[in-house]
Amino acid sequence: MLIGGIEAGGTKFVYGVANENGDILERLICPTEKPEITLKTVYDYFASKNISSLGIGSFGPIDLNKLSDTYGYITTTPKPYWQNTNLVGAFSKLNIPIAFDTDVNGAALAESIWGASAGLKNSVYITVGTGIGGGIISEGNIVHGMLHPEIGHMLIRIHAEDDFEGVCPFHKDCLEGMASGPSFNKRWSLRGENQELPENHKAWDFEAYYLAQALVNIILTLMPEKIILGGGIMNEKHLFPKIRACVVSLLSGYLNSEYILNEIDSYIVEPKLGNNAGLLGAISLGKNIL
Ligand code: ZN
Repeated sequence: MLIGGIEAGGTKFVYGVANENGDILERLICPTEKPEITLKTVYDYFASKNISSLGIGSFGPIDLNKLSDTYGYITTTPKPYWQNTNLVGAFSKLNIPIAFDTDVNGAALAESIWGASAGLKNSVYITVGTGIGGGIISEGNIVHGMLHPEIGHMLIRIHAEDDFEGVCPFHKDCLEGMASGPSFNKRWSLRGENQELPENHKAWDFEAYYLAQALVNIILTLMPEKIILGGGIMNEKHLFPKIRACVVSLLSGYLNSEYILNEIDSYIVEPKLGNNAGLLGAISLGKNIL
């Protein structure tokens, strides 16, 4: 049985097919041009494949409300030409079940099936990059709530030595405003490569402090069995021990949990699916509706 997947990103679409075990059999990439061009390329590919279902993990904002007239749409994105694009509708002629969700929800699901949180029913996946997003798996299901979680805009306490005002256009100094890639680069006047700062630079302490607060809030709210941190900023592996130590410190002994007290190294972890997380995220969405 073949499952199709589309990782719809702002700069490229990654798409392909896999079997039920998440083994990717074909993987293709095309640039995100005007919708009529990109969507036709991807549609033509799947029209030539005998897939049983299709999963789409998309950049946002998107409409996930199945009762809405614009379900399956990319809605108010600043990306030129893509406002109000009917993404799901572009594939309806395939006449197969189509699952549609945010890219980060897909990645969270894929990690819980084949990746770092496999076998666990409650986990959280957070990506720290151009933006900060999070997907929550609770009792084996993706949490949507009214819209979908917006972990990136969590409000946080500012480090006593940090006088940066933040970059979020809505809140300025929310988590994304203080800890995303663009925030980091602006705060330290970098041109886009975080590696320019040595590991002992206080920038990493600030970064770890903000991310650790988000994790503490997530732990206290959701009690996940594992937290996975991915995205470009988390390629700085030395952040992991800093974040773990800061989480333990911020919890101040409040939680009497083995996971926190003795197994923090295996509690806050890297993703396992690597470069295929986005495509496998989409495929896991497709697998989920078979
Ligand atoms: Zn914000």
